[in-house]
Amino acid sequence: MPQMRPRKTVNISVASCENDCKWPLQFKNFVIIPLSAKPFWPFLERTENYIRLIVSLAVTALLAFFFNCAAVRADQPAKAEAPGLSSVPKLQLRDLQDQAARFNSVLSLPEWESTPAQVDANVDAAIAEANRQLETIAQVDRKSATFENTVRALNDVYAKILQTGHRVGVLEQAHPDPKMRSAGLDATQKIDEFLVGIDYRKDVYRSIKAYLDTNPHLEGQDARLVEFAVRSYRRAGLALPDEKQQKIEALRKQLASIQAHYLVNANNAAAPLKFTKDELEGVSDDFLKQAKTGENEYTVDANVPPQYIYAMTNCVKEETRKSLCIARDTRAREKNLPLATQAIEIRAQLAGLLGYESWADYQEEVKMAKTGKNALNFEEQLKTALEPKYQAEISELKKAKASLPGAVSNEVKLWDWYFTSALLQKQKYNIDTEALRVYFPFDRVLDGMFKIYEHIFQVEIRPVDAPAAYENDVKLYAVLDQQTHQPLGLFYLDLFPRPGKYNHFANFALINGGLLPDGKYQRPVVDLICNFPPPSSDKPSLASQQDVVTIFHEFGHAMHAILTTVNYVQFSGFNVPGDFVEAPSQMLEYFAWDKKVLDSFAGDYRDPSKRFRLKCWPSSKRQIWRPKHALTVASSPSVY
Ligand SMILES: [Zn+2]
Repeated sequence: MPQMRPRKTVNISVASCENDCKWPLQFKNFVIIPLSAKPFWPFLERTENYIRLIVSLAVTALLAFFFNCAAVRADQPAKAEAPGLSSVPKLQLRDLQDQAARFNSVLSLPEWESTPAQVDANVDAAIAEANRQLETIAQVDRKSATFENTVRALNDVYAKILQTGHRVGVLEQAHPDPKMRSAGLDATQKIDEFLVGIDYRKDVYRSIKAYLDTNPHLEGQDARLVEFAVRSYRRAGLALPDEKQQKIEALRKQLASIQAHYLVNANNAAAPLKFTKDELEGVSDDFLKQAKTGENEYTVDANVPPQYIYAMTNCVKEETRKSLCIARDTRAREKNLPLATQAIEIRAQLAGLLGYESWADYQEEVKMAKTGKNALNFEEQLKTALEPKYQAEISELKKAKASLPGAVSNEVKLWDWYFTSALLQKQKYNIDTEALRVYFPFDRVLDGMFKIYEHIFQVEIRPVDAPAAYENDVKLYAVLDQQTHQPLGLFYLDLFPRPGKYNHFANFALINGGLLPDGKYQRPVVDLICNFPPPSSDKPSLASQQDVVTIFHEFGHAMHAILTTVNYVQFSGFNVPGDFVEAPSQMLEYFAWDKKVLDSFAGDYRDPSKRFRLKCWPSSKRQIWRPKHALTVASSPSVY
């Protein structure tokens, strides 16, 4: 067992799913729902969900308590030259690894490939190694089957092969070289096929079954691991006739390949649109300077988030916003529409073959919702509950839109959301979101956010002198226990856009936390792949307040992964049911809405002693679309 002192915070990680955050940002923040809201009740029928809810609320209360402590300290006048992590000496990986060993734990980094041939060779080697491990399980004879040499050994196969799968997945999504991204995609497909194939290894299943037939009495995580293994075989169709099984296996492999290609196509699709200066009315001179591609020609790539979000927020011309919105939402349409159609057909076939009424039922079975019907009911109840608030807000946005000179319609379309929201903030609350950027140079935001997280979770976050990763600009950090200095995990920050890079904001697992076969504890490694505004020749990266919320959110996922203490990778970190995975980060992003938190780090990049002044508005009548506080600037934000 790893040597871990009890932590003050509650570890929420209990089950398995993925981590991606693909909701449009404005929507993501529009629907932060108190978990105690009435529409949530149908999910409380099961005791485990009730417990999960209570834990969630308790965590919220705990975080609020810890935050209050942090905020008191943070409210002290800021020093003009906040030290920042940039001035902190970097830790050496070797030292951290030695330190981890003292706690019977292992800290390691992915061994990044640098050529496509290496990627191919390493994936083949990883699959061969996994096959050897599976053979060993298959050879367990009926009488000697134990938890360790069957169910636990199968967990170890996944733990190992997933390290390779996660690594090549990041190459596929974020390597700067298209050849490496392509090699990453091929490798991902090989691993996906292999993972599907594990479910159909009857020799392995026989050994697992031999152990289950002993009617073992298990508790806690061991019992849950067995429960998950049984569920996984059932969901793979292993109880069905051979012919059906083979069909299901082939369809699942095909589906995995389609899904991988779909995402890569979306990443690689450039959507450059050319505009005149007049068509971009409302954007800054800086933006025009960067977008200039010819005589009165400016190019905005709708597939580069900072460019897209900026233009959608600031451009007055509705036609421009409309064309950008359509270009973004239909990117890779020619390639992806046929894939989506195929995927829908395959999913329906799979659901039918496996005896589910719909793909939704198959998918929801392993989530808190349990059935497609529950999920739809939840959404319907949510919609009904939000309707009055939605109507009140939409009427405000309509008024804002109608107030523009020459407005012909007050209808708020999809491409109006960013723009009318910013307009309303200016008109009603005197907030100029663009002018606020000068107070959020990204380095200060990161330093400030790390301090908040350090306080909440009683950890230290330190930069690490990193060996070469998949990209030169990627930074590496370590998280350590504040008292014992045990290294708890590592995370990469990959902050800015590049051609062909995953084009949203997400936390990618690289190494899951969990017990190794030798009893040591593997500490986790994650990678935050983001697309914040890059620095320019004369300015640092300047975040919007929404960007600040986003990095608080994504970093919440990183902490969720790194603070794990569970035994098995299937339950590690953010491997929780898909309809729970956002909850911790949604609670943690709340801190980016608090005045005291913002005051603790925000400062004009040209002179950090210049701070903005904010008022918190607790009155619900004056809230707009934010959950508790709306922000306003007491004087012109551009000068103070
Ligand atoms: Zn998220």
